[in-house]
Amino acid sequence: MNLLDFIFPKRCVGCGKIGKYFCAACRANIRVIKPNEPICPMCGRPALDGATHPICRTRYSLDGLTSFFHYDGPVRKAIKAIKYRLVSDLAEEFVNLVSVRDFDDCILIPIPLHPSRFRQRGFNQAEVLGSILAKRLNVAVRTDILRRVKETEPQVSIKKRADRLENMKNIFSCKNITGNILLFDDVCTTGATMRSAATVLKRAGATCVWAVSMAR
Ligand SMILES: [Zn+2]
Ligand SMILES: [Zn+2]
Repeated sequence: MNLLDFIFPKRCVGCGKIGKYFCAACRANIRVIKPNEPICPMCGRPALDGATHPICRTRYSLDGLTSFFHYDGPVRKAIKAIKYRLVSDLAEEFVNLVSVRDFDDCILIPIPLHPSRFRQRGFNQAEVLGSILAKRLNVAVRTDILRRVKETEPQVSIKKRADRLENMKNIFSCKNITGNILLFDDVCTTGATMRSAATVLKRAGATCVWAVSMAR
């Protein structure tokens, strides 16, 4: 135990118990996405391995989605804790819960924050988690390709469908890029942000854009 652990003891993000970020009881409550649970990132229906259904595929669509956990319980609390205060060793422990799979020949691009949001918060949680995950997957990270040029309202707060679609338009701009991309975000709920970024990346030359999120 080091001095910092003594002054600021680790507390479980799930229940607050002192000791670890994920105590044994809360760890048991983490719901991993099972092999039969992946969904198509375009329509949200079940899909083998999370690959986009052939009928949902367009020229600029996402090619698939891999999420590791369901967005509830201790996972939801961990993601919120990482988002609102920088506890970098929590991010490390959280990513270590992921069982690694093979992503050959890819680069990982975290979903960027709008510069004004970034200044306000001081860091981008998708970049923090994405960099740790990239190390685990042994792939490179690029944060200089994709830029967020528009701030968006949370999709859930917009009632009309037309306004929601408008909200997601022209959020990103992008440098030219080739090859296969893992597009990373901490959470993928509606998938609208990921789909919007994928369109821009594919227009810029990306071959394959596969969405990856800690939770959904
Ligand atoms: Zn706990
Ligand atoms: Zn589909």
